[in-house]
Amino acid sequence: MMNVCFQCGMYHADKIIDPAGPFAVCPECGFKHPFRQLPLLIVSGASGAGKSTVCQHLSGQLTQAVLLDSDILWRPEFNRPGTDHRDYFEVWLRLCKNISQSGRPVVLFGAGVGVPENIEACIERRYFSSVHYLALVCSDAILSERLQRRPIWRGTRDAEYIDGHIRFNRWFKEYDSQPVIERIETTNTLPEVTVAQVSSWIDEHLEVPSDD
Ligand SMILES: [Zn+2]
Repeated sequence: MMNVCFQCGMYHADKIIDPAGPFAVCPECGFKHPFRQLPLLIVSGASGAGKSTVCQHLSGQLTQAVLLDSDILWRPEFNRPGTDHRDYFEVWLRLCKNISQSGRPVVLFGAGVGVPENIEACIERRYFSSVHYLALVCSDAILSERLQRRPIWRGTRDAEYIDGHIRFNRWFKEYDSQPVIERIETTNTLPEVTVAQVSSWIDEHLEVPSDD
């Protein structure tokens, strides 16, 4: 419960970050709470780009970080008009921040979390030393084929759903802004190769602090 001040007991998600500690400083009473400011890694891409496959393969194999699929916390209640799903992203960042306090950075897999403005606008963003974005991308045809192969209950065979994710896939391919989104192409790549590429990307960006 990092957001509750140890000294005055008030709740604040918007603590002031003092990089000297780093400390999360209570805006009510000035109490300095030392905390671990770790990087957050995000592996994204449109539905069908391959992120769940990679997450499943790396879970239990890659133990320097905590790997989570952001879909596990999704609930229709988060889908409120005019909010851009902000509550959902704040909940995720709060959870990742709290996991980080045990000394392991989080690698978060998901579609919406890969759009930097969804994350960078969050109050909880300040508790991470950096956020690194990676997108898995592929051709329109392969994306469509993968979505059509899924079981009906997932609702991904619907033409509107497929069109939406083809557009999202193109958005990742054409994105050319800050913060940077790195890309891995999965069209003609065996799943195990993609898994290895993502694993290397994670290793490069972990910045694991030495134990003190
Ligand atoms: Zn306080």
